[in-house]
Amino acid sequence: MKGFEHLQRELEEMKDNGTYRQLIPLESEQGSTVTIKGKEVIQLSSNNYLGLTSHKRLKGAATKAVEQYGVGTGSVRTIAGTLTMHEEYERKLAKFKHTEAALVFQSGFTTNQGVLSSMLTDEDVVISDELNHASIIDGIRLTKSGRKIYKHVDMDSLEEQLLASMDYRTRLIVTDGVFSMDGNIAPLPAIVELAEKYDALVMVDDAHASGVLGKNGRGTVNHFGLDGRVHIQVGTLSKAIGVLGGYVVTSETLKEYLIHKGRPFLFSTSHPPAVTAACDAAIDVLLEEPQLIEKLWENTKFFKDGLQKLGFDTGISETPITPVLVGDDALTHRFSDELFNEGVFAQGIVYPTVPKGSGRIRTIVTAEHSKEELATALSAFERAGRNLGLLKE
Ligand code: PMP
Repeated sequence: MKGFEHLQRELEEMKDNGTYRQLIPLESEQGSTVTIKGKEVIQLSSNNYLGLTSHKRLKGAATKAVEQYGVGTGSVRTIAGTLTMHEEYERKLAKFKHTEAALVFQSGFTTNQGVLSSMLTDEDVVISDELNHASIIDGIRLTKSGRKIYKHVDMDSLEEQLLASMDYRTRLIVTDGVFSMDGNIAPLPAIVELAEKYDALVMVDDAHASGVLGKNGRGTVNHFGLDGRVHIQVGTLSKAIGVLGGYVVTSETLKEYLIHKGRPFLFSTSHPPAVTAACDAAIDVLLEEPQLIEKLWENTKFFKDGLQKLGFDTGISETPITPVLVGDDALTHRFSDELFNEGVFAQGIVYPTVPKGSGRIRTIVTAEHSKEELATALSAFERAGRNLGLLKE
């Protein structure tokens, strides 16, 4: 069809410079192994940390909800699309997170967008870690507030930006709890101390920490014993929780404000009953099956140690997100292809998702992986790494 020629040209350029990516459909349920192109491979690229995408209790809750309440809600939350189960879930989530209130959005992405774009005006300033997630960056782009960036996890740089922000009404520091490409944890105790010193608010995006860090997976804030000292926690229901959605846990006041001013909340249809029921069951699983989180961390240690013993550089990772640093973009993709031939699905991540020259295979183990699967994956990494000259003979 005519009219898209300039877009096609850009796509061709992406093919030339190696940044074009084809979608890779799974032909099976998400799990420790998946079927791709007719082949069963070990899955090391999902965010399904606890294996909840196919957990019996979540599936059962979703099925029951469909039978009882149907498949959709037919309206946005603020008109006719709030079900009692939405509100029950939010109360349960707030209690779980030890906060005053919780509000669910359609996704983690829209939660960041909605919170940041609505609560800040030109009287306020947002101070953001340079490696924060795209949804935080986009949320900031939508505000009229002052914008400052501090160097990645650099507390001197954060303090400098705070000192330069004292004329604003509200200073909001925003950080990922766990950084999604390197797997490092934000230095939250130091951030909170600086925030208290300079009278700033703190917002943490716990997309990769919910269900992973803290008691029963309560997240980074709980992991550091900072309950009650962080003003806004955002999280996703799409990774460890295994379903779909995003949430903010915060004060009653901000919740009420977002119901009135959070644009994705106001203008996009609410979650289907099956989604909410499954998320509700996920909290029960976090509370009643802590062995899943223990297994996740046991697997993380086994796999990370294994990669390091083989001689791979896993960067600054402290969590189940373990990058295997390669550098060159084309070589990163070749490594990923080679791993696939060896029976492992581990996607390469290159520019623009990570800085130029820092291509990596980003692996995430889950609680579902068996030791045998992880040992098989390590052998595949060893063979592929040697074939490509990434490991010494
Ligand atoms: N924040 C971070 C740090 C993320 O990694 C992601 C997911 N890529 C999101 C927010 C968005 O979450 P969701 O997939 O639920 O929209």
